[in-house]
Amino acid sequence: MAKPAFIRSTILANHGFTGVFTLRQGGISAAPFDEQNYGSGLGDPESNIEHNLHRLIKAVALPSKPHQAIQIHQTDLLWCNGQGHIHQQHADILISNQARTAVSVCVADCLPVLLADPETEMIAAVHAGWRGTAAGIVKHAVRSMLDHGVKRKNLLAVLGPCIGPCCFAIGNETASALEKSTAGATNAISRTAGIHADLPEINRLQLIESGITGVHIETITTCTACDSERFFSFRRDGKRTGRHLAVVATPLRT
Ligand SMILES: [Zn+2]
Repeated sequence: MAKPAFIRSTILANHGFTGVFTLRQGGISAAPFDEQNYGSGLGDPESNIEHNLHRLIKAVALPSKPHQAIQIHQTDLLWCNGQGHIHQQHADILISNQARTAVSVCVADCLPVLLADPETEMIAAVHAGWRGTAAGIVKHAVRSMLDHGVKRKNLLAVLGPCIGPCCFAIGNETASALEKSTAGATNAISRTAGIHADLPEINRLQLIESGITGVHIETITTCTACDSERFFSFRRDGKRTGRHLAVVATPLRT
C-alpha cells in the first residue's frame, strides 16, 4: 500500500519543527472517504481513521499522537500536553509548549494555519474557515503565544492548502464580515463575476497586522476544490467526504 501522502512545510522543517498537511492518497478509507480520511463521525469506520493516523505518525515520524478537539468555527483555545487524543472539548486553536507534543486540526476546504516559535518551541494549529477568519482567529492564536513569552520577530507561520479564490464564492454578508477582519482585506475579495474571497491572503494580512515578519510566513498555494486528485472538498463533494489533518509537532530533542 502507498505511504500516506502529505505536504511538508519547508519553513518549519528548516527550524527543526515537523509541520505537515495530509493529502488524499495513502490511506485505507473507502469511497467517498478515499483514502486518507481523518474525519470522525461522517460514516467512515473509526478503525479506518485510527489506522490512517497510525500510518501517518510512522510516515512523518511524529513524536506522539496529535491532539484534536471538536471544532466549531469559533476562537476557543486548548492547551495540550504529551500524548494526544481527541478532546471532547470545543476548540479551533490547539496550542502547546511541551516537548514531544503534536497538535492538529481537521479540514476540508477550510484553511489550516500552523504556528511555531523556534525560541520557546511553542506550537499552535489553527482552524480558519470563513467564520474563524472573520473573527480574526489567527490574531487570537498569535496573541496567546505572545502572552506566553514568544517574540513576534521569531514566530513562523504556514498557511496550508484550502479552497482558493477561484472556487470560494461567498455572499455579501460573508464578504463584509471578512473585509472588517483586517486592514487591506477588501483587496482579497473580488467582485467580478460574483464575490470570491482569498482566505489565505486575508489570514496572511491578519498575521502581518499581528506583527509577524512577511518572510516568516509560508503559503502553500493550491485550491482544494479544483484539485480532486489530492484533496477532499466540502464545497465540491458535500458533507460525505474525507477530512485532512494539519499537524505541527515540537522538535524531537536528542
Ligand atoms: Zn479552485
